[in-house]
This record gives sequence, structure tokens and C-alpha cells, in this order.
Amino acid sequence: MKNESAGIARLCPLCGAGSDQAEPFLSDTRDESRVSASSFASRKVPEYMSHAMVRCRSCDLAYVDRPPSVASLAASYHEADYDSAEEAEDAADAYARALQPVLRLLKGRGAALEIGTGTAAFLEKLGESGFAKLVGVEPSRAAIAAAPAHRQPWIREGIFEEKDFESESFDLICCFMTLEHVQDPGALIASAHHLLKPGGVFVAVTHDRRALLNRLLGRRSPIVDIEHMQLFSAESSRRLLQHNGYEAVDGVSFWNRYRPSYWLRLVPMPDGLKGALSRMLRGSWLDRRRLSANVGNFMSWGFKPH
Ligand SMILES: [Zn+2]
Repeated sequence: MKNESAGIARLCPLCGAGSDQAEPFLSDTRDESRVSASSFASRKVPEYMSHAMVRCRSCDLAYVDRPPSVASLAASYHEADYDSAEEAEDAADAYARALQPVLRLLKGRGAALEIGTGTAAFLEKLGESGFAKLVGVEPSRAAIAAAPAHRQPWIREGIFEEKDFESESFDLICCFMTLEHVQDPGALIASAHHLLKPGGVFVAVTHDRRALLNRLLGRRSPIVDIEHMQLFSAESSRRLLQHNGYEAVDGVSFWNRYRPSYWLRLVPMPDGLKGALSRMLRGSWLDRRRLSANVGNFMSWGFKPH
């Protein structure tokens, strides 16, 4: 794993600053013996492993300056496990609520694209909001297999590539909890800009590394993760959109709702204790409830100018 890193340090993927603007942020804590098919799964139990990261002094983005190759990342996600279909439905509910103010500003309800769609739970919400055509891209075979049959025709297996779609054909493009994972988030956002109709909107959900909980947990935060190639703050996620030609850029911090047994996954505690508590909770009356919490998730959006 460690040998797959590129030889030359990459520039800041947000502002393009070089290594002279980079200061150490996280040390390399990867342990090959602990990397498995679940390491690249959505909503896994946190492993607290990360690549070495630097922080850009000019734009505040934290990023892996020697990332694995695009091909190696794509292979990791293609083979990843998937066991969080139920949590995907809860996440889609939270995203749909947070998206309401954005949808009120958007006129078109033609086609919607979701990059990193998982089981397409959120596309289902967009269909309920009136979008006529639903398209999702997802690299994980296991996630697609976990999608209900009626959603599978919406999903294209693979990593997102602009050439697979017609330019200026979408009213809405979403990318939730995925911008941290890609090798070049600026290129993804620029491609989305080409694919949006004028007046269309791009919406992202990212972790806010400067949110209270993430600052309190530090290295024990679930955002410290081998999958993450960069970590945004609320400010840097908006700046990424402004840099790539979007206007009326804005954003909002929002609350997630999950079962208690899912929240328990994210709490730093010994694995044995966590497993025992989780088995007690699963299937109990308590776990039928949903608990809301602000864990530093941030939705940002920007419109393509007319
Ligand atoms: Zn930068």
C-alpha cells in the first residue's frame, strides 16, 4: 500500500499552491495488515488510519500530498464491501431535508445526476421531488448489488467521467461524501460545470474538519480515514465551487439522523466493548428510534451562470 504513492508531491488540489505552502497536518498511520475490503466501504467502523496529510497555508485545505494512483483508488472502491443500505436511507432523508432551500431556487426538474450514488437512495428522493430523469454513478459493485431492483437501472457502474454524459444536460448534480475520496476534486467540479445546463446547480456534502466535534476528537475523529485524499472546512468547500466558475455559492451545516447502533460505530472506544454494546442495541426497541446529531456535515452549492 505505502509503495503505491506517486513519487512527486501533488499541488494543492484546491488552489494549486506548491509544497512551499504546505505544512504537516497528519502523519502516515496506515497499517497494511489492517487494510481490508471494508476499509473502502461507506459508513464503516472507523479505523483511525490515514495517509500523511499536509495543510495548505494559502487556502486551508488539508490534503494527501502523495496520493495513491487513480487506478489504484478505483480498484479499491470497486472491490469494497457494502453493509450500510439501511443507513443510506437515513442519510438520504437528511440530505433531502437539507436540500429543500436549494430546490426552491432551482427552476428545472429535468435530469439529475448523483456522483457516488451508493444504493441510489437519494435519487429516489429526487424522483419524489419531481425530477424526470435519474442517473447515478457508483464504483462499488457491492453497493449497487444492495440497491433495490427498481433503482438499479438508474446506476452506472464505474468512476465518474465527463465523457460518459452529454454536456449541458443536467439541472442538478450532487456529490455527497465523495469529494474527499477523489484524486482531483477541482476536475470533478469543473466537469460537473460542463454537464450542467445554464442555471443548473451543483450540490456537495463534505465533512467540515473545523466543526466542533471534529476539532474535539482530533485524531480520533471518523474523518481521519485512509479513504480521504483531502479534508475541507466549510470555507474551503465553498471556495472550491467559486474557483470553478459557480455563482451564488452558499452552504449550510445540517443534522444527520441515524439509529443509535450506527452512532455507536463512530464513538472512539475499544473494539471489544463497542461490539458488545452494538450487539445489545441491534434489534432492541431502543434501536428502532432515530437520533439526530450535528457531526460536522456541511452542504455547499453553486449555480452555473446563465
Ligand atoms: Zn491551497
